[in-house]
Amino acid sequence: MNRYYFDHSATTRVDPAVADIMRQVMCENYGNPSSVHGFGRDAREFLDRSRETIAEILNADPAEVYFTSGGTEADNLALSGVMEANQERGRHLITSTTEHHAVLYTAEYLGKNGYEVSYIRPDKYGLIQVDDVARAIRPDTAMISIMHANNEVGTINPIAEIGRLARDNGIIFHTDAVQTFGKLPLNVSELNVDLLSLSGHKIYGPKGIGALYVSTGIAVTPRSYGGHHERELRPGTENLSGIAGLAKAASLCHESLEKENDRLKIMRDSLWRELQTRLPDLTLNGHPEQRLSGLLNVTFHGVEGEAILLALDMKGIAVSTGSACSSGQTTPSHVLLSMGLAPEDAQSSIRFSLGHENSDESIEYLLDVLPPMVEKFRAMSF
Ligand SMILES: *Cc1c(COP(=O)(O)O)cnc(C)c1O
Repeated sequence: MNRYYFDHSATTRVDPAVADIMRQVMCENYGNPSSVHGFGRDAREFLDRSRETIAEILNADPAEVYFTSGGTEADNLALSGVMEANQERGRHLITSTTEHHAVLYTAEYLGKNGYEVSYIRPDKYGLIQVDDVARAIRPDTAMISIMHANNEVGTINPIAEIGRLARDNGIIFHTDAVQTFGKLPLNVSELNVDLLSLSGHKIYGPKGIGALYVSTGIAVTPRSYGGHHERELRPGTENLSGIAGLAKAASLCHESLEKENDRLKIMRDSLWRELQTRLPDLTLNGHPEQRLSGLLNVTFHGVEGEAILLALDMKGIAVSTGSACSSGQTTPSHVLLSMGLAPEDAQSSIRFSLGHENSDESIEYLLDVLPPMVEKFRAMSF
């Protein structure tokens, strides 16, 4: 049976060119970048060049890029590290209810350990309003963390405006850009961000690698201690194959960004159009325009999303309900609930996230399989 992948927001297949460079680093340039001999110098060269590549894409200085074990660690380091290092500014943090759990659970942890957290709720499209953030600012607000694009519905937040608001109030601003790095042009000075998290495996790079951009002059307390690696903010011998893979994946995505966005948008919009002509009672979740090109989140009213997911899986089609991290647990998506969906509608929603593995053929197959499946479930469920 052919298998069709519509879950690119959960993770992606490593690009063969990325795997090639990783193999080269692991098997040939295997030195420790901290060693002074030739092996070490070769490894250092890979490390430096990779950092320059990431910095260039972000319009940052290479010294502002810190490699981590992924988006989750970058988010943890940003929130905990900044709040701890900047207590003289205050102990209040502003974030949103639609964040990835890497941010949300770190905020909850901080909230139980001497800090105060305000959670901004989005509008019905999942969009965080700048005015709502402004109203939450207090004299003791040290940091604002609002994600760039949401991983479940794809809504893209007005990061540059929120960043300007933070800057005008002397507040440190972090954004989780895991879903936009490599998919949208990112310029840290235009976005007015002080810290930005990114990850490798959402953009055809390896799992277990990511980075945190930290603007020069922003104090961050490390979460772990050891050697001098990553200027002591993130010690430990560098995951060099991962780092080289991340840099390769990032530059490949960056090169083809516009073309790929156009391609995905056409497929995504035709999928949505065709679903609507074949099935009644569907709702699009997420912003109609301000949304990631590959993302389509749909409520199939009256049908369990989990039932659709499992039945599609039997047909070789991979989709997701809510975020991958919460699959297997039956609580409805915190993102959809905070957008105002009723719990039963949140439970009836499916995320299709398109990417390299999709072509018109995969969309046609999905459209052959899904509508009759939903009709059958609906006929059974009264
Ligand atoms: C996937 C994801 C993360 C976590 O990144 P990992 O590299 O898997 O740890 C964080 N934030 C968002 C928005 C994500 O989509």
